[in-house]
Amino acid sequence: MSAYRAPLQDMQFILHEVQGAESLFASMPGTEELGRDLMDAVLESAAKISEEVLAPVNRSGDEEGCRLEDGKVYTPKGFKEAYKEFAQGGWVGLSGDVDFGGQGMPKVLAVLFEEMVMAANSSFALYPILSAGASLALARHASEELKQEYLPKLYSGQWSGTMCLTEPHAGTDLGIIKTRALAQEDGSYKITGTKIFITGGDHDLSENIIHLVLAKLPDAPDGAKGISLFVVPRQLCDEGGQAVIDNQVSCGAIEHKMGIKGSSTCVMNFDGAQGFIVGEPNKGLQYMFTMMNYERLSIGLQGLGLANNSYQVASAYARERVQGRAATGMHNPDAVADPIIVHPDVRRMLLSVRADVEAGRALAVYAASQLDLAHFHADEVVRSRAAKLVAFLTPVAKASFSDKGFEGCVLAQQVLGGHGYVREWGLEQNVRDARIAQIYEGTNGIQALDLAGRKMVKDREGLLACLAMEIDEYVDARKDDAALSAYIEALQAALSSLQDISVWIKTAAEHKPDEVGAASVPYLRVVSLVLYTFMWARMVEAAQRGIALGEGDMQFYDAKIKTAQFFLRKKLPELQSLVAEIKGGSEVLMALDAEQF
Ligand SMILES: Cc1cc2nc3c(=O)[nH]c(=O)nc-3n(C[C@H](O)[C@H](O)[C@H](O)COP(=O)(O)OP(=O)(O)OC[C@H]3O[C@@H](n4cnc5c(N)ncnc54)[C@H](O)[C@@H]3O)c2cc1C
Repeated sequence: MSAYRAPLQDMQFILHEVQGAESLFASMPGTEELGRDLMDAVLESAAKISEEVLAPVNRSGDEEGCRLEDGKVYTPKGFKEAYKEFAQGGWVGLSGDVDFGGQGMPKVLAVLFEEMVMAANSSFALYPILSAGASLALARHASEELKQEYLPKLYSGQWSGTMCLTEPHAGTDLGIIKTRALAQEDGSYKITGTKIFITGGDHDLSENIIHLVLAKLPDAPDGAKGISLFVVPRQLCDEGGQAVIDNQVSCGAIEHKMGIKGSSTCVMNFDGAQGFIVGEPNKGLQYMFTMMNYERLSIGLQGLGLANNSYQVASAYARERVQGRAATGMHNPDAVADPIIVHPDVRRMLLSVRADVEAGRALAVYAASQLDLAHFHADEVVRSRAAKLVAFLTPVAKASFSDKGFEGCVLAQQVLGGHGYVREWGLEQNVRDARIAQIYEGTNGIQALDLAGRKMVKDREGLLACLAMEIDEYVDARKDDAALSAYIEALQAALSSLQDISVWIKTAAEHKPDEVGAASVPYLRVVSLVLYTFMWARMVEAAQRGIALGEGDMQFYDAKIKTAQFFLRKKLPELQSLVAEIKGGSEVLMALDAEQF
């Protein structure tokens, strides 16, 4: 089994040569100090901990899994030591608020870091990533007092965080949750209810676990508008500040599941546990979205990272494994057969994974740069435009990275033939671990509905127009660049198809309410292809610049341009079939009676 190697060269190329991170950070208060050397040092340390601490306990974690004994959950051997080192390195609070002990690093760096930890060990990565998401929701919406009490310990990793939304009867539709919160005289609340599928609901990595719980007050309005958010610690602190008082929070069971076996997935019972409200009553879902938007990008990176990990194994294998002869004649006359890398179909599979991973990584950094602009930039106009782009990009990133990530893991597995199906090479674990990213944090179907419905058909803020403006500005500035013309023309044509099909869906939906749901998944894929074309144009431009300067790794730039050509000729054409699929309409989907299924 090959060891995971963080793709530092590609990450640095995207960060510096495509995104121009140094000048981006120099333009914003709070990030000016972040020079190239510091960014590279962070990435190198992240690579080291991912490769040397997390990857070594990935397979053993999968084999051993988590266990529940006497109401306590134990993580696999080695996770505790890895967590200690991870927390001591300051990684849990990497992008946390500096006023409360966080490192204050921008999201652009955090996404590259998260890709590495997800690729090295997805099960492990979920524990700190949920803590980071919980901290973000508290940092944005909780009172000063709650922030003082919880954030420093969450950032240091001494305590960890969870997100408790799902109930047995309420998954996608959180408006129907039954967990109740009763106000107490001291200003706290008694929380009662059962949550299921809670990642990191219980474990032995941190001293305390801080649950962010969605619950309803007795007088709350029905549906999603009546949900409030509470902080509920597993243990309350005594007067000396020690988390030792039992708070009626218990783990009833852990799930036995397809993948991410080192991540505990818990049934959590809250039996009149003491909780503290975050922000105002009935605004809980809105607050939780702060956390979910953050988590959604991270969960997308789970798919992306695992696909990259799988690509590394499959490309190395394809150069070594000999079977059959090349169609053009023997490549390796001294051996009994040629390496399978000579076969066009093997190359199709490898290039497909690679083209999606590299474009996805560029898109993750691009989306993160918009999150940073929305957060740090001094100019309100810039902040607002970036926030609109983030709203549009988040569901696309989550669903595309995880769909293409799973697909990539399966393709890489296929490159190994039967050897990909058995455990030895680790690819069957990657397939199992990547699958969940398409389901949790809102299924990919729901991401697509959010995009096509709320963010396109019902949009009043001009979100798609904002993306179109970004692309138009990019295209206008390069319309005389002959070397880039194939990409610029492809990008213009793809954007124009997206705009046309958006109008088509809006018009169709005026008379047929099912049209949005029928179009949503292919629509999200169209948007994703437009964005990937945009990213490939930016990467080719940077590679051409590198070649013209005659500095750097020419082989790297050459491979970048050839992978871009593969994307343009072999992947982008799918856009037209997706448009045709959307125009196929909703009737064929709704024609069968429920009993006929
Ligand atoms: C391993 C694991 C870890 C998890 N971690 C957490 C966690 O930490 N915290 C937490 O709160 N939850 C967690 N979850 C729960 C997860 O977020 C939910 O499973 C997911 O949101 C889907 O909910 P559901 O399973 O109830 O499916 P349902 O909501 O029942 O959906 C079933 C199917 O119907 C579709 N569907 C539902 N409604 C619509 C609609 N309106 N339009 C179109 N299609 C629709 C869905 O897309 C899906 O395909 C986890 C789940 C798993 C398996």
